[in-house]
Amino acid sequence: MSKLTRILFLNVTRQCNVNCPRCYLTEEVRNKKELLPLEFIEKAITDPFFQDPNYESVVIFEGGELSLIGEKNLRNMLELVKSKLPNCRTTMVANCYSLPDWLIKICHEYMGSEFETTYALDKKYSLTGDAELYQKRFKQNIKKAHEAGITVVVNVELNKETIDLGVDALMEVIRETKIQCWEFDHSIDFQEFMKDPRFNMYGSPLVETTTTYEEFSDYIIELAEVHGKEMQALGIQIGAIQQAIYNEESIFFNVKNTANMLSINADGTCTTDVLYSDVPRMFIGNLNVQTVSEMMQSKSRKMLLRWENSVRVKECIGCEFYNKCKGGPSYMPLFDGLSAECAGAKKIWTYMRDIYDGDYRQQQRR
Ligand code: SF4
Repeated sequence: MSKLTRILFLNVTRQCNVNCPRCYLTEEVRNKKELLPLEFIEKAITDPFFQDPNYESVVIFEGGELSLIGEKNLRNMLELVKSKLPNCRTTMVANCYSLPDWLIKICHEYMGSEFETTYALDKKYSLTGDAELYQKRFKQNIKKAHEAGITVVVNVELNKETIDLGVDALMEVIRETKIQCWEFDHSIDFQEFMKDPRFNMYGSPLVETTTTYEEFSDYIIELAEVHGKEMQALGIQIGAIQQAIYNEESIFFNVKNTANMLSINADGTCTTDVLYSDVPRMFIGNLNVQTVSEMMQSKSRKMLLRWENSVRVKECIGCEFYNKCKGGPSYMPLFDGLSAECAGAKKIWTYMRDIYDGDYRQQQRR
């Protein structure tokens, strides 16, 4: 039986070189120069929580934008992780607004020549507010990585604007960049949430998406219907479609994973989910004064786990897809209150099993 995974997110800095107005980090934090100290990384990875032989560990380097800390700092962090947690898998999330040659080299050396990036067709800007420049540089850099032999996984934030532009607009980007792996995430307006943060009685943030869950699912179904043949010919992999076709474990980020993840900030504050990295109420402790194992006993973490594992998914019990889906991304409410669709995208699971008969069925697995 394969081992369960524990995930450590290292926010090597929360500073960023792109302006996404719905970011989960506040503008103040994104403008602050910060560097995650090696001592915090060492404290986390040497803790019994990550040294437990019953689990595999994945260490994800990210920001903000991780390239801003420079090659030397990133190499030092990677060397430390590899020396103290030799069997862990290391990977990164980079925004690809800039992609220095040294980062590609590091990706080959330490990350199995694969990394993830995030994207949307709109609502992403350079720091001077230029949307076109962002699009241009992003596409240039993912092509650069692809041509350097890197497998780039593009995670599309399926925001309202991207959906309004239609599936043809995304297909053009897929065609132009030749990137083969595309995933989709729901789009949450964290800046709206931060203005008046509200939580349920278990301490889980009450976030809202910029689209209904149904619009999210309909877009992905339309992409398969309209462009499935071409995507199949190009060898394009789209997890949300394939998991439903092949009835596999859901690949949506953070599917009931709170118990096995930790995110750490440069000031020592820690959260479970990386999306909460700038929400003080979600801090489960601080590495300046606590160990990771102590944080795992925190009341707020336990409440969150109760919400996630027992309460939130009550309405999923009886769902024929629960075994694979497990309730969808747990940082979002199960239903949006506006459409009949759920966070786990039941409409896609059902459609792909019962209705879809297009070319994507023949897609080769990665
Ligand atoms: S498909 Fe929807 S109802 Fe079914 S398990 Fe997933 S989130 Fe729950």
